[in-house]
Amino acid sequence: MIAKCPCQQCGVNIEYEAENVNQFVLCPSCGKQTRLLLQGSREHALTSHAAKVNAKTEAIMKSCPDCGLQVSRRAFWCPACGSMGKSLFWKIWEIMAAFWLVNFVVVVLAFLIWKLFEILAR
Ligand SMILES: [Zn+2]
Ligand SMILES: [Zn+2]
Repeated sequence: MIAKCPCQQCGVNIEYEAENVNQFVLCPSCGKQTRLLLQGSREHALTSHAAKVNAKTEAIMKSCPDCGLQVSRRAFWCPACGSMGKSLFWKIWEIMAAFWLVNFVVVVLAFLIWKLFEILAR
C-alpha cells in the first residue's frame, strides 16, 4: 500500500510503502532527513501544519544578504544591520542614477559639439 506524508523539512509530499512507516529517509526534494509519518496520526497533522507555516513564512520573508536575518520582503533595509540588500528601492535608485549619468554625458557632448561648430564657423 502506498502512503503519503509531508517532508518535515520542506513540506513536499513524499509517497512511501506503508510498511516503511516511521523510518527515516532522505527527502527527494530537499535532500534532508525526514521521518515517514503515518497518515492521520497526530505527528502527521502537526508536520503538515508546520510545513504550511514554513512555506508561508518563506513566501513573505527573505534573508538579509549581509547578516542572514529574516526580513520582510517589503522592508527597504535590514533593521539589524541597516543593509540595503537588493531591495526594489535600491534597484530603482540605481536605474535613476544611471539614467541621469547618461543624460549628463549627452548634454556635455552636445555642448562641446555646439562650441566646436561655433569655432569652426568663425
Ligand atoms: Zn524535503
Ligand atoms: Zn542584515
